[in-house]
Parts: sequence; C-alpha cells; structure tokens
Amino acid sequence: MILLDNSMVSLSQIAQIVPYSGPDALNPSILSFGPIKLFVLVGWFYLCLYCVQRVEYSTLVTERYKALVSVLSLVIGPFIFFVLSVADMTTKLQDGDIHFDDILSYLFGNAFVSRKNLATRKVRDENYIELLDSSGRNFFVEAGGKDVESLTDQKTLEFTHHILLEGIKQRASDILIDPKSSGIYTVRYRVDGYLRIVDEVETDRAKAMVNSIKAIAGMDIAERRRALDGAFMARISAGDVYFRVASAGVLGGEKLSLRVLNQAQGMLKLDQIGLSEEGHRLIKEAIDQPQGMVLVCGPTGSGKTTTLYGMLGEVDFYTRNVVTVEDPIEYVLPHASQMEVNPKANITFANSMRSILRQDPDIIVVGEIRDSETAKMAVQAAHTGHLVLATLHSSSNLATLARLIDLEIKPLVLASALHVIISQRLVRRLCDHCKQPAQPDAEQIASLERYGFDPGTVMQPVGCKKCNNTGFMGRVAIVDVLHVDDNLKATLTGEGVSLAQLKQDGDNRGRSHLRREGLAKVAAGITTIDEVKRVTTHLG
Ligand SMILES: [Zn+2]
Repeated sequence: MILLDNSMVSLSQIAQIVPYSGPDALNPSILSFGPIKLFVLVGWFYLCLYCVQRVEYSTLVTERYKALVSVLSLVIGPFIFFVLSVADMTTKLQDGDIHFDDILSYLFGNAFVSRKNLATRKVRDENYIELLDSSGRNFFVEAGGKDVESLTDQKTLEFTHHILLEGIKQRASDILIDPKSSGIYTVRYRVDGYLRIVDEVETDRAKAMVNSIKAIAGMDIAERRRALDGAFMARISAGDVYFRVASAGVLGGEKLSLRVLNQAQGMLKLDQIGLSEEGHRLIKEAIDQPQGMVLVCGPTGSGKTTTLYGMLGEVDFYTRNVVTVEDPIEYVLPHASQMEVNPKANITFANSMRSILRQDPDIIVVGEIRDSETAKMAVQAAHTGHLVLATLHSSSNLATLARLIDLEIKPLVLASALHVIISQRLVRRLCDHCKQPAQPDAEQIASLERYGFDPGTVMQPVGCKKCNNTGFMGRVAIVDVLHVDDNLKATLTGEGVSLAQLKQDGDNRGRSHLRREGLAKVAAGITTIDEVKRVTTHLG
C-alpha cells in the first residue's frame, strides 16, 4: 500500500516537480491550432502524399529511382512538388506547342483528382506504353519469375519501349533493326515510304532488344538463322498498335523487321484519301450496288489497302454481311468477319474464298488477287449476287484488265462483272507547318498550264521540328477512277482484244490521268511536282 501510495502522483504534484524551462515552455497557445496553422499542416501533409503519387506517374523519374524519390517526397514533399513541377513545365515548354494555361491545368488539375482518376490519367499519358502478347496479355508481368528477368532487364525493356513508342509517334509504317558490318546495329523507321536511320546501337544492347521483341512476339529466341515470324501489340494512350515481326539471320547477326499496324490511327474515310469529286461519286455508286466488282490497283505501297478500308467505311455493316480475307489484317473492323491468309496453315486467298462463299456474304473483300484461282472465284462471286472489293498489283486501270485476262478470266465475263477500276499512287503531303510558296521553273510552269492549272499557287518543302525536317508530313493518294461503261465493255468483248495494246493504252491513260490528278494537288499546294513525277514517270 505504501508503494502504491508513492506511485500515485497527482497532476498538481507534477506541476510542482517539473520546472519551467522558459517562459513559453508550456504556453498553451503553442499547442492550440488556429485555422491558419491547421490549414498549413494539412496542406503540407496532403502535398507529401500527393507527391508520392506525382512521382509514381512522373515521366521524369525513371522506374529505378521511383521508390527512393517516393520515400524522399514523404519527407520533403512540397519541395519535390515544386522541383518536379518546374522540371515538367520546362520539358513541356521545350517540346513546344503547349500553352502556359495547359501547363497550369496539367499541374494543378492533378491535385484534385482521386487516385483512381490518376491511374486512368496514366493511360492518357503520351509516353505511356505497355507491351502485350498477341492475345493481349501483359507478357512481362504474367510470365514473371527469373526467366524473364534474365531475358529482359529493365534497361533493355525501357530501351525497347522507347524505340517502339518513337516509331509510333513518328508514324513509322515499319521499324527495321539490322546489323551492320562494323559491329553495331542500326534502327531505322520507314515514314511516308522513306527509310531513315534513327539510332545506332552497340551489338549487345541490340541483341538484348531483339530478344525481348522476339520473346513477346512468341518467337523462338534460340533460333537466330531461320526466318521466323510473330506478332505482339502495344497499348499506348491513343489505343492499341499491332506489330508483325519477321526475323532472319543475316551477315553479322540477326535482322528484325516490324510492321506497324496502327489501329489507333483509325481508318481513313473515302473522302480523306484524295479522290476527285467525280471519282468519289463513281466509287460510291459502285459500292451501293448489290453485286459486281470494284478493283483497286497500283504497285506495292500505293495505298491500295487504305482505299479498300475507305470504301468499307461507307458500307452499312448492320444491313450487309461483310467478310474479308486479308494478308495481313491491318485494321480490325468491329462488325465484319475477317480472315487472315496463313500459307503455313494452308489458309490461302483461294481456299479462304471457298469458305467465305458458304458464309452468305453480301460484300467480299479480297486483300489481293494473286492467282488465277482467286481471280476466277472473285469474278464468279461478283456475278452471283455479291459485291466484291479487291486489290490487284498492276500499273494502271487498263493494265489491270490485261492482267485479269492473263489470269484466264474471259473478257466477256470480266466486262459484265466490273463496275469500277481504281488506279492509284501515293505522294508525300507537304508539311502544313513549314511549306512556303515556290518558284516553279519554265518546264514546270508549262506542264501545269498544259493541264490548266495555275502555277502561282505551287508550294515547296522547307522542314521544321514537326516534320523531322523532311518538309513532308503524311501522304495523299492520286487516283484515276475508271468507270467500266458500255464503250469499254464493247471494246473488251469485241473481236481481237490485244493484251499488249490494252496495257499500252492503260499506261498512256494512267500517265495522263494520274499526272493530271497529281498536278491538281501540286496547284493546290498539297504536294510537289517532283513527288508527282516520281510516281508517274515509269508509266509508258
Ligand atoms: Zn514541317
């Protein structure tokens, strides 16, 4: 009891025992929180937490340092907030094309969103990229474990991300990674049909990148000589981008070619392709027919597939059953049945056509007519209540007819099936941000005036940051639309149609019509005379 009594010390006793260390030591005003102090403290605390989030989604802090900076930001949050804000602001301003109020809303807009919103914001980040295998799973996350760690270290993955994302941003249609003799690899992008070197990478790093791409594309990493192919996809802020990968052993190492199929870019509409009003009307009329055939022709890389998809954009998928066979499928059409050619699995254009005809289609799209069998089935389908849209590799409209007759299609059958033949080339479109009025020379003025165009409105390429100093951005088609009218039908079905003559006539017409269409775009300041010459001189 005595002990207990001793241990029981009253508050008043404490007050006597503890001496004052100064006049303010236990001054109650220090401990009480006025509204301003409370605001500052809560604000500070909130900024600390907010900074942890900011760090996580910042594009300036690399993955490796994120944990460290997060911990630091808990302690000195507001300072990190301002440092990151200033740094973000500086890089954004340097990138150009962004206004100060954009930056303010970017900086402070984030401060009032919930964590969930911030995560979706991450998906909208322009530098966001996630690699998924062809079935849409996150390969590197789901595979987990040590195999993947050794396969692809963080640095390699980041570098791969960078190369792919840059390619997408620069609108590359292909990304090529191949070894040069001097022990380095080059990374090249094909943009608007032109290849350009974007990076040179030392062998070890390049090999690691090649392996990481092959792994995610489902290819055998150990096989370095035989030609392989695979596919994967990348999820970026704008949507999904598909990649088709082909590898092959070449002198000095292994070459990788990536075809970029950018679903996110979307399909071009028929009126965005570069058609004249008359051409657009003829095509529209043809695809509104219940049966018959529309052919798109041109050399490789002339935008045939884009025009094909453009036509499909005018079709009502709900009332018409659309079935396609393609090589490869470049855009996913949500309401169509799409088949992909795969020679290894014996899925060819010809035997796909057979299975398509059993699916009661209204519209059949044939990616490319390559052989007699496919040609015959396509023409037959066009005769039996189907609208057939197809592409064919040939130099001009009439040469296409010659080519089909060559593929054992009877002229009479052909004449009655065909509605319209579209012949086209792609020219580079002048960059709108830097093009300037040009002074055409006498020869150029003459050719423009020959077709009745005003030489005073011609523009020339200059080059700026937006177009990577090329002076060009994107491409536009020049198109010659041939309506298969009664006259032409009569010519085709008449006696003694000469293939050679048909081809010759076709090239003459093609040169004249494609050049006129091209010069119309030169006079409109859309492209240059050199571009038009480049794609039309080989004709005739
Ligand atoms: Zn430019």
